Amino acid sequence: MSKQSQMNKIKAKVLGLKESPLYTDRVENGYVPVIGEGSLDADIVFVGEAPGKNEAKTGRPFCGASGKVLDELLSFIDIKRADVYITNIIKDRPVDNRDPKSEEIELYTPFLIQQFQIIQPKVIATLGRFSMKFVLEYFNLKDEIQSISDIHGKIFETKTKWGTVKIIPLFHPAVAVYNRTRLQELKSDFEILK
Ligand code: URA
Repeated sequence: MSKQSQMNKIKAKVLGLKESPLYTDRVENGYVPVIGEGSLDADIVFVGEAPGKNEAKTGRPFCGASGKVLDELLSFIDIKRADVYITNIIKDRPVDNRDPKSEEIELYTPFLIQQFQIIQPKVIATLGRFSMKFVLEYFNLKDEIQSISDIHGKIFETKTKWGTVKIIPLFHPAVAVYNRTRLQELKSDFEILK
């Protein structure tokens, strides 16, 4: 099965995920799940937290205020959005943009794991503490977990079925939406991705 057909299957499953606590809100608001966007042959996969309102309306990840910051960071390191893959640990919008709950993380992350297996990236860049925690735990790096302020921009390595993968925890771009001084910090972390 092609990579695209495998992704389409994931999309169909998430669309019908009635058991999700976020399903009713999605349907009532006319939102759509945000599966991910970009190259299915990407070397780098970015993993954010969950869709915001703009994302849930359009089905595209990082298309609102945080997305603008992410675009700026990508262009700073000369990487095209179309050449990477961008997704989230949670595929539906948590009501009022609250933090994801552990049962939601449990419900949605099997889809993320399948996405990793389809794309087989060399680098997984996590955006924010929730995706950092999940990804490090999943790839047997639980002992390395510390506060994001302590380990952002560090490179962790893990062995997977498709080879060695580097995991790089990054701050969530939202930190620079209202505080432009944080952008410099994000920029120097993003330079590692070059
Ligand atoms: N924040 C996220 O974590 N993901 C998005 O897709 C948008 C905002």
